Amino acid sequence: MPIYFNIMKTYKHIFFDLDHTLYDFDRSTRDTFLDLHKKYNLAEKGVTPFEDFFKTYNKINIEFWDRYRNNEIKKEFLNVERFLVTFKKYGLNDRNFAEQFANEYLANAPLKRRLFPGAIEVLEYLKGKYPLHIITNGFNEVQAIKIEANDLEKYFKTITVSEEVGVRKPFPGVFQHALKKAGARPEDCIMIGDSLEVDIEGAKNVGMAQIFFNYKNLPYNGVATYTIIELKEILDIL
Ligand SMILES: [Mg+2]
Repeated sequence: MPIYFNIMKTYKHIFFDLDHTLYDFDRSTRDTFLDLHKKYNLAEKGVTPFEDFFKTYNKINIEFWDRYRNNEIKKEFLNVERFLVTFKKYGLNDRNFAEQFANEYLANAPLKRRLFPGAIEVLEYLKGKYPLHIITNGFNEVQAIKIEANDLEKYFKTITVSEEVGVRKPFPGVFQHALKKAGARPEDCIMIGDSLEVDIEGAKNVGMAQIFFNYKNLPYNGVATYTIIELKEILDIL
């Protein structure tokens, strides 16, 4: 009888990114913007067409996040200013309104139930086999609301939010903090995330294996242990 060796590595802990991996951040943001655009009659105030407004915001938002990551600006400034700058492009120069919009966006978007297809099926399957963990960049209160609204808490043994650590992925500190919390060694772990730069490189640098969730199915550079385009493919790997 031939002897077959299982060459697939066995992992002991699974780490997930949250935004754009389990949680469809783009859809929840878009839905919340649609709600608020309607609520505040923004079309009548010149903030139109919606798609143009949303595209403009997304571009400005990325610029503000880059500045935040470089420690040029604070969280409170980012929160309001990205909306003020967007609205100004449509002739709406009203700081109080930008602040109100920002607060409502932050309060409402995480309440949207918007998981990627297959997320629950995959979590249900993995839950019985491994301790599961989250490592997410973001603000404590926002991520906590999101996790609760989407009923994710029950799947995870530990949740690490970058704000609580003080450094963001891809910096090793946040991964090391999460590993310690989980009581895990990096070589026993695999990290699942949508960002090559943030999740995959970050995990690789601390010695964790990686699954790159290339949900937009875009051409990419870089090598992950595995690459998937649908969450359900995780069932074949783990
Ligand atoms: Mg992500």
